[in-house]
Amino acid sequence: MPAALRAAIVVNELSWSGPCHDRDESGLLEILTRALVTARARVSTHHSALVDVALPEDLWRRRLPRGSTLGAVLVQMRSAAQRDLAHRLKQFIDTGHRYPASDPVAVDMPNGLTVSHRGQAAAGFRYVLESQGVALSLDVDEWRKHPVDVDVCRGDEPAARVQTIAHVWSDVISDSQLAPVGAIIPLLPAYENPGHHDPEQPNQYIPSKSQLPRRPRRLLESALPEPGGTWWAFCEHRFYHRFQGRGAGPGPTVHWNGTTNPRARQVTREEDVPIALRKALSARPVDQCGCREI
Ligand SMILES: [Zn+2]
Repeated sequence: MPAALRAAIVVNELSWSGPCHDRDESGLLEILTRALVTARARVSTHHSALVDVALPEDLWRRRLPRGSTLGAVLVQMRSAAQRDLAHRLKQFIDTGHRYPASDPVAVDMPNGLTVSHRGQAAAGFRYVLESQGVALSLDVDEWRKHPVDVDVCRGDEPAARVQTIAHVWSDVISDSQLAPVGAIIPLLPAYENPGHHDPEQPNQYIPSKSQLPRRPRRLLESALPEPGGTWWAFCEHRFYHRFQGRGAGPGPTVHWNGTTNPRARQVTREEDVPIALRKALSARPVDQCGCREI
């Protein structure tokens, strides 16, 4: 993977001012935060450094649809669940990239192009176009659409080009919405537990099978794929763990189905793990895996 290729999840500053008729401002921030968490969670920890989360640099001064500032709304988020989301949003703001969004003129791209949306300079969308990006908007009335078109102009030439960009506004995010990110970073599949490997599910468990670790999702978060849809993880016990899709072929949903733990009922051979993956995975073992047959 060339080092220059980066993915980006970019908060669209144009969506910040609404209007919004059916959500209060704390609700908007909750959805935005869950969308950021959801999008970020589709990237393995091994690929984290290849993804920018980007927000407008004047975020703290911006007014939300009903005129409140971000700080004022965060203070109003008082329930435990809201506090957790507020904390996560602050983490994204503190650690994410900032892009200048207050420039009143159309933003120049390096090759002399400008990016705008309905005549407004669109700095966030520019960031999306400069990377393998996805735009994230507040869940306000006019921004509930996927994808969105932006005008890319050269000099004063109006709408020299129209480009379509991937756009998300809710915390339920489809693979097609994240396709630009998935084009350079394999998106983590969803996880399911059919129960065959799970001794805590006596009705489904098959005793001849190796036993599911207690924290398979934690393993999957740090897994890497081989071509064909099999994902591999590596744990603190120095075992490799296999995740595969439903049925024989690759699938967007996987379950845990094998370990190189020599004490397991069925032992997966270490040679089954591609050498390049072994090298990358073994450099960063996953702790608190919850392996059982040790
Ligand atoms: Zn383990």
